[in-house]
Amino acid sequence: MGFLSRFSWRLLRRVSPRLLLKAGRLWLIPGLRSLSRFRKRVAASELFPPFFFLSLTDACNLRCHGCWITSQGQPRQLSRDDVNHFIAQAKVHGNRFFVLLGGEPFLYKDLWTILRQNRDCYFQIITNALLLDEAAVATAKEVGNATILVSLDGFESANDARRGQGTFQAIKEAFQRLRKGKILFGVATTITSENYEAALSPEYVNWVDEQGAIYLWYYIYRPVGPDPMPQLALSRADILKVRRQLLRLRRISPILIVDTYWDADGKAVCPAALGLGYHIGPAGDIELCPPLSFARETIRDHGGDVFHTINTSDFLRGFQKFALSRTRGCPILECPHELEAFLREHHARDTSGRDAFAELRASSPRASHHIPGEELPETMGTYRWLKKHLFFGLGAYG
Ligand code: SF4
Repeated sequence: MGFLSRFSWRLLRRVSPRLLLKAGRLWLIPGLRSLSRFRKRVAASELFPPFFFLSLTDACNLRCHGCWITSQGQPRQLSRDDVNHFIAQAKVHGNRFFVLLGGEPFLYKDLWTILRQNRDCYFQIITNALLLDEAAVATAKEVGNATILVSLDGFESANDARRGQGTFQAIKEAFQRLRKGKILFGVATTITSENYEAALSPEYVNWVDEQGAIYLWYYIYRPVGPDPMPQLALSRADILKVRRQLLRLRRISPILIVDTYWDADGKAVCPAALGLGYHIGPAGDIELCPPLSFARETIRDHGGDVFHTINTSDFLRGFQKFALSRTRGCPILECPHELEAFLREHHARDTSGRDAFAELRASSPRASHHIPGEELPETMGTYRWLKKHLFFGLGAYG
């Protein structure tokens, strides 16, 4: 059986037909349209991404090593009006897909109201799954316009070492509930220098498949935040191994293996540098990406005209020039000191709640997913097509 038949069989068996239809109608088709409008904007030299990440709150019930979220004292959070206004603005430009994250988005009391009030949009909710009880799964099923992406960092010992004792078992139980509820869900795994062999093993992929997930999304560890743990960062040789193994896994895996680091030709991608996606922080700041918490503008500037604010931002346009003149990969990893100088020159505000300038200064240049001369193109037709048309739209996050 080829990949597409194996994958379709799993979709039909595991996901409720109603939810599957909603995903097709609200996620897939509008996603293609949204990218087509984005390409027209690029041709017209307009800057407005097809996709956004919204950190609803910075409150979190976990304290994972290497996390960049600072949750101290009173949590910051977007108001429901801000979120709805922002979504309405983005919809005018064809955007229908939004990634909701935190902190922990299930701590945000208006989460379901936002989904209900925007039934013509599709959401991806990135969660640690600890609050995914029977009631939350039942509501996710009833509302129907979201896929749940559960963060899990490998098997029990690796996961619990980073995310906290007992989290693996709690996540496994949440998988059971999601499976029973026939919810469309995926697993997000961060690859570090310590876990990459196990996290990229066929045993792990098969185990994730058995839990009922439809997609497995890999992130490469970035040493940012107050506890950056640089020893977990990957070397260039490790990153090449990761790339090779991803290509191998795609040939044997029955579920989707997602990365947003490389395009169909194996060339590196930085979504922020390409204007594919920006991050809206919990105080409404328009940030370059989730781990790069610096901003000049907010979603409330220019009377809330978000298109105007982004399209006329010297800072966001300046970042494109800055990043693309240095690397196709990740400037946070490759040139943190030049990045700090760029941010200062543009009078960017540190919106992290920490001292993110000092963190950049203390950081050393290291390898990212930009591997010039050693690019490895996608080897499967399905993934080539997906990479060209969907992966860099449906939640671009380098
Ligand atoms: S590649 Fe780095 S700078 Fe670019 S979006 Fe990803 S994390 Fe941000």
